[in-house]
Amino acid sequence: MLNNNLCKELNTNQERFLRLKHSIDDYEAVKHKIKTGIEDDERIKYQKRKILEKLNATEEQWSDYKWQLQNRFSSVEDISDIINLSAEDKESIAKVGELYRYAVSPYYLSLVDPDNPSCPIRRQAIPSISELDPRGELDPMDESGSTPEELITRRYPDRLIIKVTNMCGMYCRFCQRRRLIGECDTHSSKDKLVKAINYVRENKEIRDVLVTGGDAFMLSDLTIEWILSELRSIKHVEIIRFGTRAPVTLPQRITPELVSILKKYHPVYVNVHFNSPMEITEESKRACEMLADAGIPLGNQMVLLNGVNNNKYVVRKLNQSLLKIRVKPYYIFHPKTVKGTSHFWVKLEEGLEIMESLRGHTSGLAIPTYIVNGPGGLGKTPILPNYLMWIGKEKAVLRNWEGKRFEIENKG
Ligand SMILES: *Cc1c(COP(=O)(O)O)cnc(C)c1O
Repeated sequence: MLNNNLCKELNTNQERFLRLKHSIDDYEAVKHKIKTGIEDDERIKYQKRKILEKLNATEEQWSDYKWQLQNRFSSVEDISDIINLSAEDKESIAKVGELYRYAVSPYYLSLVDPDNPSCPIRRQAIPSISELDPRGELDPMDESGSTPEELITRRYPDRLIIKVTNMCGMYCRFCQRRRLIGECDTHSSKDKLVKAINYVRENKEIRDVLVTGGDAFMLSDLTIEWILSELRSIKHVEIIRFGTRAPVTLPQRITPELVSILKKYHPVYVNVHFNSPMEITEESKRACEMLADAGIPLGNQMVLLNGVNNNKYVVRKLNQSLLKIRVKPYYIFHPKTVKGTSHFWVKLEEGLEIMESLRGHTSGLAIPTYIVNGPGGLGKTPILPNYLMWIGKEKAVLRNWEGKRFEIENKG
């Protein structure tokens, strides 16, 4: 009798394991087609050689972030030497360029697939005629309404943002701060920075300061160190965070010098911004690993973007690949209705489907929080698929990641 039951149990267990094994067949079938930059290294290296040749530059210059910045591509003619553009593309880029600035680091341009007009890297970096769509708002987040002091955005009780520069390694086509970024590269003046830091000093409930921009790592090492030492001199500041896309668009910026400055002021956190598996290259990997080796916890803030990553398999591959380079997926942001970015907008259902496809199917570590930003500065609002089907006085009904319903006692 006992033996029989044991056999039955073993059989059902085996069935269960077999079912689990096959429940990721769909992902197993596509994951090799969604390439990371590391997996597509040869194509990227080929493009890099093309760029070095055009600019008559050396490997050493390539590794210098200042050279990368000075040699950003910002004309149709130069870009069309590296990637294939139709006459129509060229006309569009020129036209959009009159309204919105574009500038792509040689490194980031090397990731663009030269022959694919819908390449997700190209979509993020090269202007599209859709940017002229008049829909959307200039400042949907009403940042100007959450500013107690110039450079500061404060929307929460115990933390705030200081915007230290409007400069970036690359001007993302979906940028939410288009109205501030790009007209001309300016770092915030020392005078304004002092005032912003004084605001933190005078408000004792601020325990978490986010240094962002633009891209916080566009500042010089000297200025970064000065900001860090000022913030660290404030007793109530517990953690300091940087928001940067440099490891993704300009990984050469992560130098041993920068890292040795950052690690003197721990706890320092860095949030990076990968949107596509193709952005995970040997060079961006190296940048992230240098930061991680310095004891800096790394989080990723992805923006959900039509034509870039609004696909459950792409996001799974991205998040799993990020964990391999020690970056924890932190947030997925629903795109904001910023004017000039309507071609990136997606429906909420797409984000929810992605979240549904992650939980249970892959490591919990690979699952970020999906965030919608409330209009007019209402702040980050999490949304997720509904797992709580019903809640009563003493019982509740839930469903698991596979859709199986179960009941639990609700007592306490
Ligand atoms: C996003 C944001 C923060 C940080 O939010 P966390 O959820 O703590 O990461 C802080 N202040 C402002 C104004 C923000 O937009």
